[in-house]
Amino acid sequence: MRESKTHIIYYHLLIFAVIAILIIAKFPCPFKAILNVPCPACGTLHALNSLINLRFYESLKYNPFSVPLVAAVWIGIHKNSIFKKSVFVDVIIIVISLVVIYYYIMKLSNRTIAAI
Ligand SMILES: [Zn+2]
Repeated sequence: MRESKTHIIYYHLLIFAVIAILIIAKFPCPFKAILNVPCPACGTLHALNSLINLRFYESLKYNPFSVPLVAAVWIGIHKNSIFKKSVFVDVIIIVISLVVIYYYIMKLSNRTIAAI
């Protein structure tokens, strides 16, 4: 049991290290690089980097839903372990996903209208 907790800590440290490397290297979005269209999560790493440096307005400009998006992913990953498969957690994830998808569609439609 104790060894599995150690593995979990190492696993989380590895994930944080990968995220830090992606932020520092300013890794471009593969979705946008291939399709030339931003993905729903575009700007999230830049927004988190701005948040870490306490530049809140800049963070909102990169992606206003970066924090809810990261929270939804984190909650989704830990849903079965920490949150004991709660229905409330499912509702939170669905609501955040719908808001992000709605914002994404609005952003794409404005981009399309502006391009015409
Ligand atoms: Zn993207």
